[in-house]
Amino acid sequence: MANPFLALDQKLSGDGYSSFESMENLSILCDDFGSRFGGTKGEKQAADFIAQKLKDYGLKNVRLEPFEYLGWRRGTAKLEITSPIQKTIDCISLPHSPAANLTAELYDARDGAVSIFEKEAAAMQGKIVMASSETFPSGSKRWVHRGEKFGRSLLNGASAFIFMNHYAAYGPATGGIGHKNRTALIPGISVSYEDGSFLRRLLEKHGKVTLKLTTTDSSETMTSWNVLGDLPGAEDPDEIVMLGSHYDGHDISQGAQDPASGAVAVMEAARLLSKYASPLPYTLRFALWGVEEIGLLGSRYHAQANLDKLDKLRFYFNMDGAGSVKNKGVVLNEWAELEKLVKSWQKDISFPYKTAQSVNAFSDHYPFLLEGVATGGMESVPKGTEGRGYGHTKFDTLDKVSLRELQDAAVLASLLALRFASISKADWPVSRRSKDDVKALLDLPDYTETAEINEKISAFYDQK
Ligand SMILES: [Zn+2]
Repeated sequence: MANPFLALDQKLSGDGYSSFESMENLSILCDDFGSRFGGTKGEKQAADFIAQKLKDYGLKNVRLEPFEYLGWRRGTAKLEITSPIQKTIDCISLPHSPAANLTAELYDARDGAVSIFEKEAAAMQGKIVMASSETFPSGSKRWVHRGEKFGRSLLNGASAFIFMNHYAAYGPATGGIGHKNRTALIPGISVSYEDGSFLRRLLEKHGKVTLKLTTTDSSETMTSWNVLGDLPGAEDPDEIVMLGSHYDGHDISQGAQDPASGAVAVMEAARLLSKYASPLPYTLRFALWGVEEIGLLGSRYHAQANLDKLDKLRFYFNMDGAGSVKNKGVVLNEWAELEKLVKSWQKDISFPYKTAQSVNAFSDHYPFLLEGVATGGMESVPKGTEGRGYGHTKFDTLDKVSLRELQDAAVLASLLALRFASISKADWPVSRRSKDDVKALLDLPDYTETAEINEKISAFYDQK
């Protein structure tokens, strides 16, 4: 069959590939507003800017959705070696670290493999435990997240945690350590690969290294905002396809690749679809989420506040950092019938995307996945195992993003969204999962191990 969307595909692609808009928006988000981290002035400026842009593009019902959360303000952090030598090591606090002042011995938990935390638990008691940021530590077939390494240190009685970057020359990497809207129970800081390696060598040489750690961070209730805008559907405006990305970065960074390259691609898809394709039979909703970086807080809030409407959320497509991912493809969160459908469009869409399936908890699709909504995202296919690179460091800057990659993300998203929001209800192949089906989906060996340790960490917090 000939491509029924050919004329629209050509308009969306032609405009998309001749527009500078996404790079101009990226420059405003990153260079004018800075990190857009929760609680900064630039965060609200970004939310207002995005809302104004969506209005300018002709979207309807553009709104800021405010919500409260436990925010965090960075203070100075100081790490001093007090024995066997005297030396100050550069460090930064990890978001939701508490203020603290303590002196303790260093314990080297190397790459933070689960087996290290299990076998050496007793030796970590009372110590400042350091683990590096390898995503697949020795012997691990799954991603062992920073939060898990921190949590396992906490459960083993550590007095503080040091996150050592495993990439050379990228400085310290940041990332939240709070747990379920609580400040972390012990302080966590981050050091560069080089400083972490120095600490390791010192410990090997002398057998014992004593550190004094001083942190001055604070937590307080804050307000953040999701930004939403619609292209209402002509046939059933309540049936919704949503595209989204968070817009907040980490406070030490421009967050240009993660997330802003994805946020501007969502905005650009909104511009293109509004100009050429609206109205489609079903509503297209564009969502720019607040404070993802410290716990997916904006998308969690939105999913919980709209539980009664999720049956009509046909599909959520996540575009966190999508303007920077290599080999842009469509990753579905275990929706085989949807993958068939998306694959069937390849004959009409000249962009050479691939498809894959995965389940992970690390971005804004997850709160919707947990509620059974059909979800997926624009991610690298095949998936790399190399980890974040300079993501979550101060080096995630605008100069590393190219206009062409932003255009690729925006145009591909437009062509897909056009189809997602046009297919008739009779031909749409999936519906929302029941709670039991979600549970069964998450009953994978990888996921179960993560869930179990999270439960232990939660129980630990509940006792305090
Ligand atoms: Zn992100």
